[in-house]
Amino acid sequence: MLLPQRDGTFFLSRDRSDGASIEVDGRAVVNFSSYDYLGLTQHPEVLAASHGALDRFGSSASASRMVCGQTAVHDALDERIARFLGTESAMTFNSGFGTNASTIGFLFEPRDLVLHDAYMHQSALEGIRLSGATRMSFRHNDVAALAALLETEAPKYRKVLVLVEGAYSMDGDVCPLREIAALKRRHDFYLMVDEAHSLGTVGATGRGIGEHAGVDRADVDLWMGTLSKTLASCGGYIAGNGELVEFLRYNCPGYVYSAALPPVGAAAAEAALGVLEREPERSVALQDKVQMAQSLARAAGLDIGTADVAPILPVILGERDLTLHTSFALYQRGLCAHPLVYPAVPKHQARLRFFITGLHTEAQLQEAFDAVAAIVAEATA
Ligand code: PMP
Repeated sequence: MLLPQRDGTFFLSRDRSDGASIEVDGRAVVNFSSYDYLGLTQHPEVLAASHGALDRFGSSASASRMVCGQTAVHDALDERIARFLGTESAMTFNSGFGTNASTIGFLFEPRDLVLHDAYMHQSALEGIRLSGATRMSFRHNDVAALAALLETEAPKYRKVLVLVEGAYSMDGDVCPLREIAALKRRHDFYLMVDEAHSLGTVGATGRGIGEHAGVDRADVDLWMGTLSKTLASCGGYIAGNGELVEFLRYNCPGYVYSAALPPVGAAAAEAALGVLEREPERSVALQDKVQMAQSLARAAGLDIGTADVAPILPVILGERDLTLHTSFALYQRGLCAHPLVYPAVPKHQARLRFFITGLHTEAQLQEAFDAVAAIVAEATA
């Protein structure tokens, strides 16, 4: 359990944001804890679309989508997500967490089995709990371990769901989706991929892990993603087969019994996706920056674990107290990177997490990694 800290970086309140720089208590701080991967939250088109929706619809959807909370902006967002991903259909929820929890919770039941990567996000685990299905995890990214469970356990259950993430938010690595999708040729299961951190950040045109791994859209039954990261808003989506999405629209509790996301949020996400669609080079530039950040961190002597192509860079320091101390010392130097400690990550693998975004400069990255190395050297001397 993590107890409240006096000298900590949790629950900082920003007074303003300006690119990668935020202001906290009158002080400018470089923010490495933002999901704004492509830097679109302050893009002029995103702001103009948001202002337009605010003027047209007011501040709230004021109802569930099923009963008049829906607007033309919500429809446009759903359609654009489906078109961008190349799925038959898509629907958007007012929370990314709620999208996982409610969709998994609704679609599966106690006679079912859910096999999930050991590093799966809490929102998906909550969904499994809600469903009452049997839950078994396999070692992170271990396709052979998953195949073994499909062989020995899956036949005992009615339906089987395999759950993975496109990119993992504690390590910055990606899932071997091609190999996992190939298992469908031998086993009967539903496949769901959470693209919270891979949409817009991986793949030649930012279309995520499907594009990166060269997997057919139809090989994955449920493409899930969030609007709160690359898409510069808040909420989540499910994209896939038209009939499945229609079924969820009429039945999924987190969709039917919850107010639609505010039109202003839908407009922001739709505009952000429009920018990404038109300018895939933003995603490519981010991918280059991720490689640069990894080189800089390694050159500073830091352990970045299994970081791969995703824009998440863990700096593994090991012990919890050293990690908490380093995060706060960094903050005092005007650099904000949050600590991850047990139970969020395994014991003795405490780390700082740097989200790399299109907003960060090489100089900011260099400064941050040099500062971490210096703080750790001083603390452990
Ligand atoms: N899935 C993953 C993998 C996440 O990392 C998160 C949150 N960062 C969510 C789902 C939940 O999304 P949101 O924060 O938009 O509710």
